[in-house]
Amino acid sequence: MLQGKTALVTGSTSGIGLGIAKALAKQGANIVLNGFGDAEGPKAEIAELGVKVAYHGADMSKASEIEAMMKFAADTFGRVDILVNNAGIQHVAKIEDFPIERWDAIIAINLSSAFHATRLALPAMKAANWGRIINVASIHGLVGSAEKSAYVAAKHGVVGLTKVTALENATTGVTCNAICPGWVLTPLVQKQVDAKAVAMGLSNEEAKKQLLQEKEPSMQFTTPEELGELAVFFCSAAGNNVRGVAWNMDGGWTAQ
Ligand code: NAD
Repeated sequence: MLQGKTALVTGSTSGIGLGIAKALAKQGANIVLNGFGDAEGPKAEIAELGVKVAYHGADMSKASEIEAMMKFAADTFGRVDILVNNAGIQHVAKIEDFPIERWDAIIAINLSSAFHATRLALPAMKAANWGRIINVASIHGLVGSAEKSAYVAAKHGVVGLTKVTALENATTGVTCNAICPGWVLTPLVQKQVDAKAVAMGLSNEEAKKQLLQEKEPSMQFTTPEELGELAVFFCSAAGNNVRGVAWNMDGGWTAQ
């Protein structure tokens, strides 16, 4: 379905980003990976799916590095047809204790990076009259949780940016939508499970159960594979007129 298209997924060396990159690769899209840590393993996993894969290690907190990454993608594959703004970090603390440096980093990586990558991707998408921008927001783009001020502010911002991007391009073949996962068991959430286990004297399994019980009626984690399939839907012809939605996959979190 996506043969000949190129997808750039930020923060795709791990977790949800890698899951989405694999789902798009299975549909035939060439992939540009980004993120920290080991890139060779993820590159090999994508190459096994029979598509071309490249990697750029831009730090998504830096506009100049995002510009270099977008140029690299265009130089390597001609153009970015599908942009998945996924890179993100978390920090948990009460507002009065929140480190200023963590606030700035979360706003830069979780929100401003999506603005930069989007503004740089749009001209070529508009020229081709086809493009998909998929912002990985969160259920925290729709509701709040205590001790996550920067994350919730950034993710609400991402949902707002999604709507404006969709509106500004509404008469074109370029769509923009957000994905809002509840809990997904990635390294980002495992850190929160570990903190809960230590704070409450629980085993890893008990801490996971506790985490789900607080918010997610299904008592199940959403998987990167399920989120990947939603991204594939947004990229399909059936997604042509899906514009500006924030689609939750949250086990009923926000139905309560
Ligand atoms: P993860 O920690 O597994 O992956 C994060 C990715 O972002 C990694 O590839 C990491 O290297 C990359 N990254 C971090 N800082 C970066 C930077 N400065 N520059 C470039 N890359 C950077 O986390 P995840 O759970 O897969 O999270 C992916 C996205 O999904 C995030 O935006 C997160 O907020 C969102 N999300 C996660 C959950 C969840 O429960 N895990 C729920 C809702 C939304």
